[in-house]
Amino acid sequence: MKVLKTRKQALAYRPAGSTGFVPTMGYLHEGHLSLIRKSREENDHTIVSIFVNPAQFNDPSDYEKYPTDTGRDLNFLEQEGVDAVFLPDREEMFPEQQNFVQISAPELANTLCGPGRPGHFEGVLLIVARLLNLINPDRAYFGKKDYQQFRIIQTLAIELDFKTEIIGLPTVREPDGLAMSSRNARLNEKAREQSLLIYRALQLAKKTHKDGENDTSVLCEIVSDVIESGSLNRVEYVQAVDAETLQKVNKAGEKPCILAVAAFCDSVRLIDNIEI
Ligand code: AMP
Repeated sequence: MKVLKTRKQALAYRPAGSTGFVPTMGYLHEGHLSLIRKSREENDHTIVSIFVNPAQFNDPSDYEKYPTDTGRDLNFLEQEGVDAVFLPDREEMFPEQQNFVQISAPELANTLCGPGRPGHFEGVLLIVARLLNLINPDRAYFGKKDYQQFRIIQTLAIELDFKTEIIGLPTVREPDGLAMSSRNARLNEKAREQSLLIYRALQLAKKTHKDGENDTSVLCEIVSDVIESGSLNRVEYVQAVDAETLQKVNKAGEKPCILAVAAFCDSVRLIDNIEI
């Protein structure tokens, strides 16, 4: 596996055949590996990037506490048969003397995580635009756990005419249903126990909808109540949105709709969603 550390090396690495790309912030888990496996299936070459992007953290302490273990990640990538990893350091991506161009986020960023994380999606757009430009892949793979991020990046690639096809893949979960996330490593035993209420709440809302309830305010209330039945849990938002526009939906069942949640388990902010 080739390890590329500089932007120059990434620009120079142009293998023959099709290239699939999986951008990550490391501390890899089965969710990341599912994207890598799909890329390996669909492309001649797979490149993974590991970079904890300071530009997308609106909370500096969240950035500082973000888990990292590069040695472990590189082992995983070797085992998965990844062809190359782009592993820049912070100075390589954000040299002090550079004054970066900003990309403003589209309307899609005004709901869900947008209002609670000012600047977050602008930071995501900047790093993803730069990575796509450096790697120039045919396909790039993203998880629908971060559904809003996936839709915003898809919009970036379409509207700025990137050649890259943006592909969204389903959320990979722990056996008890908790969506896998690098941040789960920060949950203590009690918070980990209560974190499973998030998926349980989403499933209950989905079942309630199947049983005939279309009023999304009722479904959102169910989700909030179940999550906050855990004493360590605090809901940031629960929203039902149109899967394409991410605008609020009052009545479920007419068009594909995402029921999305962000909640703090103890001090760890987790997100999840389910299609209804
Ligand atoms: P991250 O390292 O958290 O920035 O995530 C890198 C990519 O992996 C993003 O496209 C995420 O949406 C995706 N991802 C993270 N967790 C999961 C999961 N549980 N299932 C599927 N994809 C995931």
